[in-house]
Amino acid sequence: MKITDVEALYLRLPVIQERTDSSQDALLVRVTTDAGIVGWGEVDGCPSVTRAIIEAPYSHKLVTGLKSLLIGEDPLDTARLWEKMYQSTLYYGRNGAVIQAMAGIDIALWDIKGQALGKPIADLLGGAMRDRMRVYSSNMFQFSIEDTVARARAAVDTGHTGVKFGWEPFGADEVTDLAYVEAIRKAVGDKVDFMLDVGLVWDAKTTIRRAQLFEPYRLCWIEEPLHPDDYAGYGKVSRACSQAIAAGEEECTRVGFERLIDEGQIDVVQIDLTRCGFTQAMQIAAYAASRGRKVCNHNFTTDINTAASLHFLCAIPNAFVMEYCVEPSEISRHLARQAVRIEDGFAYLPTEPGLGVVPNDAVIEEFLVKP
Ligand SMILES: [Mg+2]
Repeated sequence: MKITDVEALYLRLPVIQERTDSSQDALLVRVTTDAGIVGWGEVDGCPSVTRAIIEAPYSHKLVTGLKSLLIGEDPLDTARLWEKMYQSTLYYGRNGAVIQAMAGIDIALWDIKGQALGKPIADLLGGAMRDRMRVYSSNMFQFSIEDTVARARAAVDTGHTGVKFGWEPFGADEVTDLAYVEAIRKAVGDKVDFMLDVGLVWDAKTTIRRAQLFEPYRLCWIEEPLHPDDYAGYGKVSRACSQAIAAGEEECTRVGFERLIDEGQIDVVQIDLTRCGFTQAMQIAAYAASRGRKVCNHNFTTDINTAASLHFLCAIPNAFVMEYCVEPSEISRHLARQAVRIEDGFAYLPTEPGLGVVPNDAVIEEFLVKP
């Protein structure tokens, strides 16, 4: 079997709000083979940059677009092709957008491998250790406490046993932050896990002070209080706080995660499959396990990411809980022909070969941004 095409499809809602909400567009990767098998992947990055990285022509041995490296290759060689892409992009890659583009392709290659071998990806990753993952409902903070509380209640009413709120307007001042946290805990009751996603706006000392204030509200974790480059700050915070600290969604490489785990001392390692790919995610999860850390996914995009996260989390021993974005974007909600089953607070591992999620052509057509 040989790869015959690698395409980047950029979908975008007609109106984009100025928020930290990556469910408003999507970059899908479609890898086609001469055997008629088509694999799908996704990248949560900058869509038009990802597309350019895939489509760029050969420049020289260390600067090459990804598509030209893959045409004619055997899609089953996932590790070898990862290495080929990594080595052939060294001058402009090694992190960020290039690794994210490689991750989207890697997901599509594993989808092809699963379809070719007639097995779900979790089986190819070593075998499913569970057939479902507990999910938490992942929300943006609303701009009033009342609207945020309504979201929290809706999450509990739909069977979720964990709820997260994140990003603006949270983090700006102590009094408002405390009012949000108190109101959410009251709305969800004592038995539901409450995760707080700060959105990178504090320094270490502010985080330590806020964490002390929030102790009565029993947060499941405090996520990304600091700038992702502040590894030393994460270390300070992790050593000082009683609550678990979660981070990792900005990291794309094993090297970055190792720093976050060892120097940052974080408790919960959050891996976005559409930024790391299966090939790296399994290595990062194994490293986290060797350091006694729990692993979650990061997912704020479509069901391709949801399915990839599920295969990954079901195949590792140190999976904790799964992020499930409930933002009502038309793209993320309706992309899959058959959505991943989410019921009573659990996501169920697809049993079809490969990812088990195929995009709906009509949704692609409706939201596709023409090159
Ligand atoms: Mg987050």
